[in-house]
Amino acid sequence: MNLKSGWTQIGLVLAALLVGLCQASLAQVGDAVLEEPGLQPFPTPLTSSAATLFQNVRVFDGKSAALSAPSNVLVRGNTIERISASPITVDTNANVRVIAASGRVLMPGLIDAHWHAFMAAIPLQLLITSPPSYLHLLAAREAEATLMRGFTTVRDCGGPVFGLKRAIDEGVTIGPRIYPSGAFISQTSGHGDFRFFFELPRRLGGPLSHSEIEGVAAIADSPDEVRLRAREQLRQGASQIKLMGGGGVSSQYNPIESVQYTEPEIRAAVEAADNWGTYVTIHAYTPPAIQQAVAAGVKCIEHGHLIDEPTAKLLADKGVWWSLQPLTYDADVFARMSPVSQKKALQVWAGTENAYKLAKKYNIKTAFGTDILFDPDAASRQGAYLAKMVRWYTPAEALKMATADNGQLMALSGFINPYPGKLGVVEEGALADLLVVDGNPLEDIKLVEDPGKNFVVIMKDGTIYKDTLPK
Ligand SMILES: [Zn+2]
Repeated sequence: MNLKSGWTQIGLVLAALLVGLCQASLAQVGDAVLEEPGLQPFPTPLTSSAATLFQNVRVFDGKSAALSAPSNVLVRGNTIERISASPITVDTNANVRVIAASGRVLMPGLIDAHWHAFMAAIPLQLLITSPPSYLHLLAAREAEATLMRGFTTVRDCGGPVFGLKRAIDEGVTIGPRIYPSGAFISQTSGHGDFRFFFELPRRLGGPLSHSEIEGVAAIADSPDEVRLRAREQLRQGASQIKLMGGGGVSSQYNPIESVQYTEPEIRAAVEAADNWGTYVTIHAYTPPAIQQAVAAGVKCIEHGHLIDEPTAKLLADKGVWWSLQPLTYDADVFARMSPVSQKKALQVWAGTENAYKLAKKYNIKTAFGTDILFDPDAASRQGAYLAKMVRWYTPAEALKMATADNGQLMALSGFINPYPGKLGVVEEGALADLLVVDGNPLEDIKLVEDPGKNFVVIMKDGTIYKDTLPK
């Protein structure tokens, strides 16, 4: 059947299931055309050296607006041990890999603060028609591609990624560090409720819906249910809790203006997270939704594009993080949306300029993220989302946001931080997630758009996954 009649037949039932998350396209159809990760089919880490010495690099440390003088950087184990302008001598008999960088730039690995490792690059039709076991393998493949784009850490804002994270951490498969939220928690008819109509009404205490069983969403109404679902995510290893606190673009049955959850419900999740040393982050676009979340103790707002000035000031006063995405009109993305989502997308995109203006004006702690969903093409352009930030920031400011600043947001997971140690900076004692760039991204941020060509070395946790420097 062709796309149009298929859409008509499956209609709203499909739309209901299609996980109207944030910026998802609803009618995308296709096979598993994942981007080429730019690697051999079964890559393995390139080095098992005890140490790596980067010789003659100019360092962007994640914070400064300028590069360092020519320096040498020694990595031992998974940590940056020493940075020095004078030569670092190493025992040539020791197991040390020397990388002669010839004045190229060394910078921290990139961090995406709003990623969906399970769903970023899997087209929607595939997602709802394929066996979960197959989808998890595709997600693993995409995780490898993500690392090869220079994103060494992602904060996953919803989806079943506990297994993927574990496999990556154990070296079973290749990918970035993942800060998982597990299932996002949504009220009935909220932004995370993508049940079919035939699954309603739910008998209280009745069986879970498909998306709940798969760990994508958790439907919870009342403080007690929210508390239970939050604790279940923590039990599985969530490093933070994700709540849906207001309307979303791609979900079909809640207006953007809708405020979701009540303060006591959000507070229940905040208490559960707080007891575990971590925090709640919440999907919210509008001032009422943001204000309610802040009042309940939420420490990070996802999106917030329709914020107003008093609410921006509130975020600044309370030191709440703002995880904002550079969403502007994108004809390709727009064309793939349902009519309902198109209308909502225009509403949200119209707020982007103002949002960044207010984020800067009030010096709010702002995180960089992409929130790409169901779109292998967009996923392959993850770095272009960062390059787009120069519309509002200098390249140095944008790169700082995607490295040192995002690293601070990761640390908000407190004593359950799965990767304790400093992320997003090049300094002694920090975790060794590093990129060698062929060119100066502080002058030309567009270099991050083509990581295959311009990121000549990619290191995560002290292990080199790519090195194309001439030998
Ligand atoms: Zn999202």
